[in-house]
Amino acid sequence: MTLEAIQADITTLSVDAIVNAANEALAGGGGVDGAIHRAAGPELMRACSRYSGCPTGTAVITPGFRLKARFVIHTVGPIWRGGNKGEADLLASCYKSSLVLAQQNGIRSIAFPSISTGVYGYPVREASAIAVRTVRTFDASAFTKIIFCCFDRPTLDLYLDLLKED
Ligand code: ADP
Repeated sequence: MTLEAIQADITTLSVDAIVNAANEALAGGGGVDGAIHRAAGPELMRACSRYSGCPTGTAVITPGFRLKARFVIHTVGPIWRGGNKGEADLLASCYKSSLVLAQQNGIRSIAFPSISTGVYGYPVREASAIAVRTVRTFDASAFTKIIFCCFDRPTLDLYLDLLKED
């Protein structure tokens, strides 16, 4: 299994699944969520509306429609409220739930955005450490490739530093 960080628009990746940083209503929005919905087409919103939302820290799966990725896994990160409201556990739970759901669907390659670090305000240094730790401690033997897809260079640099460490 290869674990890597790249700088890219996640909607362009050829992987089995991309992960969306969604909201609890699965209502679409800005940021990576908006980009994924635009690229996947209106069928994605219809597929999302079959779920009655998605509580923070959990994940649901839909087809990828017009994306190169066969699936989209929608997970809802915590809104940063200062760090004492269970944010770290909820963020870790996003990565874990997404990987479990991916495994259950035979997904072997998956790309994550930097969940919660946009509009939801999670400090990216802390969030990236949780992302890397959670994925590394998960039994990922079913996967061939797990990608951390960073939108900007500072985020990529944080991930590259973390991945250098053992
Ligand atoms: P959240 O509400 O979980 O904070 P955002 O979409 O606001 O979600 O931001 C999460 C991260 O996704 C941010 O680091 C943002 O820069 C990044 N991002 C935005 N658009 C894209 C994209 N097309 N591909 C990958 N990452 C993206």
